[in-house]
Amino acid sequence: MYSRNVDIRRSIIQGDIPSPVCFLIALDKLLKDHGALNQGIQINEYLVLSHLAFADDAALGNANAEEASARLTHFDQKAKEEAGMEISIPKTKVQHIQRQPKVGQTTEADIDNLPPEKAFKHKCDKCDMTYPTAHGLAVHKGRWCKKRKTARKPSRKGTVADRIITREKIEKRQEALEKVKIGEKELDNVYSFIYLGSEHAADGDQQVTVKHRCDIAWGRFGEYKKVLLSTKLPVDLRVRLFVVLIVSTMLYGACGWFLTKKVKQTLNGHASRMLSAITRRTIHEEAKHPTFDIIDFLLNQRWNYLGHILRMDEDRALRKFLLHLQPDQAPFVPGSLLDDTNFSSLDEAIEAAQGRATWRKLRAERTNDSRW
Ligand SMILES: [Zn+2]
Repeated sequence: MYSRNVDIRRSIIQGDIPSPVCFLIALDKLLKDHGALNQGIQINEYLVLSHLAFADDAALGNANAEEASARLTHFDQKAKEEAGMEISIPKTKVQHIQRQPKVGQTTEADIDNLPPEKAFKHKCDKCDMTYPTAHGLAVHKGRWCKKRKTARKPSRKGTVADRIITREKIEKRQEALEKVKIGEKELDNVYSFIYLGSEHAADGDQQVTVKHRCDIAWGRFGEYKKVLLSTKLPVDLRVRLFVVLIVSTMLYGACGWFLTKKVKQTLNGHASRMLSAITRRTIHEEAKHPTFDIIDFLLNQRWNYLGHILRMDEDRALRKFLLHLQPDQAPFVPGSLLDDTNFSSLDEAIEAAQGRATWRKLRAERTNDSRW
């Protein structure tokens, strides 16, 4: 429901209490009236991804650049006409959702060709190889350096430099893909985009998403280091602080991840390093028999979340996406919420979820079959 038109005769000032609310209402109405919400990406017989909209953050799905340009141009024009609102060009990004062809191996030429602002700053005085971190250079000097400028250079495979160059090549390739325009203005193509605190890669690479949350968690860990590592506080209190301050950050959005073995290992690896610093047990001990089991904690969260979704009304988008991206019978999509369970069919899972108490009990009963 919206009111009749009101002539305000002045704009809303940033920082006004009603400002964000008015903005959201206006954006919501504009999207509904002119967002072409019947358009989108047809995923399968049942699912269309038309748009994602949360507060002031919106993502529109289209089958190709041409359709996206037409949709955005129309929306931008109507927004200007009816609300004096304009889509910000620098803040709007385009993501071509597709599998990425493999990029070539990292060579020394790739590293020499980095633009000056991205060039690696740590240079070996013996052989001129450059490294992005002091640690990388130290490892090189200690183990790999041939001590001659003409010697064959050691491989970069699996190094930080390799990751940076590979990412750089992927980003470069995005620039070459077709451009989406608002009117005459071209939008940037990006490989990854952060939507609601979750970094999404154009090719669906989970490691991008997981690494993003782990980086933020380490940032938090640094911020609260003094408290978390303070020997004046009992260990169990500090572990509980770790859970609310760090684990919650690391697992933000993790109910939507494909929780594959690799992702579990990554999470457990980061958590065990942090725990080891808190408890003074070894990293290895914390990885094998953790003081706080982050994977078990996450599996519980995901179990509850799955129960909520399965109890939703049938027309809810979230429920539809969960069910219609799965086969009717097990095996389910690897790493998905349903793959966490051992139900043999979707119907069986839906049935079991109807009673909250039995659903909780089912999780508790689940044998802790060998920590993955
Ligand atoms: Zn060297």
